[in-house]
Amino acid sequence: MADTWGFAERKLAELEGRDRLRRTRALSSPTGPTVIRDGREFLLFASNDYLGLANHPKVTEAASEAAARWGVGAGSARLISGALEIHDELERAIADLKGTEDAVLFGSGYLANLGLQALADADTVILSDALNHASLIDGIRLTGAHRHIFGHLDLDELRNLLHAHRTAKRMIIATDGVFSMDGHVADIATLADLAEEHAALLFVDDAHGTGVVGPEGRGSTADAPDAIVMGTLSKALGSAGGFIAGPTTMCDLLRNTARSYIFDTAMPAPVAAAGIAAITILRSEPERVQRLHRNAAMLVSALREGGIGAKETSTAIIPIIVGPDADTIDAAARLQERGILIPAIRPPSVPEGTARLRVTVTSEHTPEQIGRAAKTMIEVLA
Ligand SMILES: *Cc1c(COP(=O)(O)O)cnc(C)c1O
Repeated sequence: MADTWGFAERKLAELEGRDRLRRTRALSSPTGPTVIRDGREFLLFASNDYLGLANHPKVTEAASEAAARWGVGAGSARLISGALEIHDELERAIADLKGTEDAVLFGSGYLANLGLQALADADTVILSDALNHASLIDGIRLTGAHRHIFGHLDLDELRNLLHAHRTAKRMIIATDGVFSMDGHVADIATLADLAEEHAALLFVDDAHGTGVVGPEGRGSTADAPDAIVMGTLSKALGSAGGFIAGPTTMCDLLRNTARSYIFDTAMPAPVAAAGIAAITILRSEPERVQRLHRNAAMLVSALREGGIGAKETSTAIIPIIVGPDADTIDAAARLQERGILIPAIRPPSVPEGTARLRVTVTSEHTPEQIGRAAKTMIEVLA
């Protein structure tokens, strides 16, 4: 057999040579403020389970009960025989949370972004923020539309592009609501105005905004009723699965033409039940969202007091830019030795030369845990 896997070995060796080889490290506990890995307890400041719902008793009970009632696998795609009443119920809960007419479930947030394929074509111009999430970029590529990238949060460049393409048949502005590696928040109100002025659609990936920003954690688009909002149940909502919410006409188009909806087995009922339970908790316990923001502010101010350039944020994401890859990996390794898990994020996830520790806070971290994390980061980064 000739060199069948030679290309893989070469690629892996090349990644290793550049210190870019990655591997998974399995936990032996659920996610939470503390986790167990390799028999040792760590403080975790790395997960997107921002409201501690991934193993909230009401969420896990809802999943268990749904498994008992509906089973696990849905058996087929929604349009064949996999549609369950619980999916409809979850779609209504999402539409209600987002203040839209309707919502469509996808197997994941990634698949929801690929659903953009149904909303644009070769006659469409898509204007996309330079730091949009990889899955949104992949969704845009699938559309076959003309795409133009504007500088991150650069509204002037976006205005120029909207003007330059004013004769296009259709235009879509695509942006993350909260940028996952920076914790930056897009100016959705202005983007919505620009979209309206230019008869463009505004498509917002709110994976990190849902459950975190906006009134009662309803997300980035709470004041932009015409925006199309994509989101995920896998972050602050502690479950799994993605959605696109907006007008019924658009949702029906997705149900009929989005390949990542049509050709994907329906969401397992326990996952859907967990999503419904999580949304119910989000809506009935706004203090969770407040606690998350208090915790983020507490960590930022402790870091700043220790001389670390952390920026204030209205999100759960606190990036500490280190710069060189090697220094960032070294900092993460030293934090880990001291019992704290914070990931080193390197290119290609972030631009070259901006490797960083991506610290995420949850509503469930205690002041003591936040204090310990800050103190250790200050020691390690000093
Ligand atoms: C995580 C993420 C997604 C993908 O969502 P999943 O449910 O994990 O597939 C999409 N967009 C952004 C901005 C994300 O951070």
